[in-house]
Amino acid sequence: PKAETLLEVNNIEVIYNHVILVLKGVSLTVQKGGITALLGGNGAGKTTTLKAVSNLLHSERGEVTKGSVEYRGEPVQDMSPEALVKKGVVQVMEGRHCFEHLTVEENLLTGAYTRNDGAGAISADLEKVYHYFPRLKERRTSQAGYTSGGEQQMCAIGRALMSNPETILLDEPSMGLAPQLVEQIFQIVKSVNEHEGVSFLLAEQNTNVALRFAHTGFILESGRVVMEGTAKELRENPDVREFYLGLS
Ligand code: ATP
Repeated sequence: PKAETLLEVNNIEVIYNHVILVLKGVSLTVQKGGITALLGGNGAGKTTTLKAVSNLLHSERGEVTKGSVEYRGEPVQDMSPEALVKKGVVQVMEGRHCFEHLTVEENLLTGAYTRNDGAGAISADLEKVYHYFPRLKERRTSQAGYTSGGEQQMCAIGRALMSNPETILLDEPSMGLAPQLVEQIFQIVKSVNEHEGVSFLLAEQNTNVALRFAHTGFILESGRVVMEGTAKELRENPDVREFYLGLS
């Protein structure tokens, strides 16, 4: 069967503060049912790309000045983040933004705020989140601010799942976490992808782990896509091996 394109970012340019050109014509696509990695070092423009998609640049004084973003063929540039969530696209921001003073379960429930399909569907999805993240179930009555970094990352992903998304934009899930936890979180992402059909656009500096779990990838350097391909092609590419995987 032919792949179905969900997200299409077409040659976007992003400028911060009217002068700082950070994205210099970035194009990428996310296919339905896939895990797409957006790779690159610190400052390459990964977060900016995700925020351009979900319309979160305004508060940073950033602006898309060229190009277009379409979801299922429809321009989404003028859509509010809330409208985009209703369309099925939700972002998990870098740094695990949980509400510290709410419990884990209250945090998860805030993820359902755009839904109007009733309490039954929402509590079924809460059970689903607990199925994928048993740790969150154990911690459900704990105040989120007192949970570990890994639990907060799980909570942030679980919260995104509570909006019943088709696509999750996931920013740097590995950040600050021990390798074992990173592995665990990527396993869960893979399992959500396989069993729920949720597509992911995954921004990661950790090329090694990202290319083991993703199906396709795009590599950003200084605001430009310098390489793209299947995860296998990228893993086997000599430049990727040398500069991103530390192999030779
Ligand atoms: P990181 O892993 O550090 O998040 P990244 O690949 O996600 O890196 P971005 O956060 O998108 O990169 O940043 C890309 C460039 O844009 C960097 O040079 C950064 O300094 C610059 N930048 C980011 N946000 C702003 C802002 N609000 N104002 C000005 N410049 C910014």
